[in-house]
Amino acid sequence: MSPRPDFGPKPRLGYAGSRIERAAELRNDAAKIEALAADPRAGAYLIGGELILARKGAPFNQPLFTMQDAAAFTATERVFLGLADGAPRFGIGIAPATAEKFKAHEEFMATDLRSIAVQGLVDEHHLPPIAEAKALLHWHARHRFCSNCGTATRPVDGGWKRECPNCKTEHFPRTDPVVIMLAFDGDRCLLGRSPRFVPGMWSCLAGFIEPGESFEDAVHRETREEAGITCGRIAYYRSQPWPFPTSLMIGCHAEAVTKDITIDRTELEDARWFSRDEVATMLLRKHPQGLTTPPPVAIAHHIVRAWMEDEVSFG
Ligand SMILES: [Zn+2]
Repeated sequence: MSPRPDFGPKPRLGYAGSRIERAAELRNDAAKIEALAADPRAGAYLIGGELILARKGAPFNQPLFTMQDAAAFTATERVFLGLADGAPRFGIGIAPATAEKFKAHEEFMATDLRSIAVQGLVDEHHLPPIAEAKALLHWHARHRFCSNCGTATRPVDGGWKRECPNCKTEHFPRTDPVVIMLAFDGDRCLLGRSPRFVPGMWSCLAGFIEPGESFEDAVHRETREEAGITCGRIAYYRSQPWPFPTSLMIGCHAEAVTKDITIDRTELEDARWFSRDEVATMLLRKHPQGLTTPPPVAIAHHIVRAWMEDEVSFG
């Protein structure tokens, strides 16, 4: 085995490590939520569908608006995100058509969250609360009616619940768990390409956990379905909120016990084994054909790097 290259300091994982204290105990007091919104230290993130608004600036653009500035926009929904060093933080939904108008604007910008994260367009401590707001506002936008009786529901608890006035069913925001895993066989690992990926990028396989399934079961099933590879031991690595729209990525490493790949072409454009040496050039952005791993904002980058740095532990 060649000596392990130096990949430098570990980058921060995008959307994770929130500084927000969610203060869930404050949510069911409507008067308290109003008082928090009136606090001079309060701030809000403005989100219109996939677009995040920010005031242009350097070195970073500023996505946090004062409540006064935010009041200039017609809110579709307001959610209480929590407290940042005691300062109340809100997410405010605006009409996507309104956000579109700021795409080409002198003072403001309206950009999708992936671009903001990958290009570092805002200070990274804003990414977790923006992810929290985006996922929660998306849930509100898609769950306006009771799934039990069809009546229009109303938001309560600072936006953390919707109630049906007719049948009294309570509806809670959902998170959709996804397993994302790197299967490896000694000194080589299995990477795949989805047709949606940018050219040259290869990543871990991934898939939604199904009802009645453990994440270990899902790792076994997805790796077998997408690449025909049977896995043995599974090791949990770490997880990442993934607000596209409301997922939680559960990162794992898996020991491959078979070698022959059979690609499910409905899911993947390609999949193959990569040697450690080749993966090193991809992580370092020095691959001769320009192949890459996903950027550090994505958990796949960290899963691959952890394997390269011998951090996989089956406990
Ligand atoms: Zn109902």
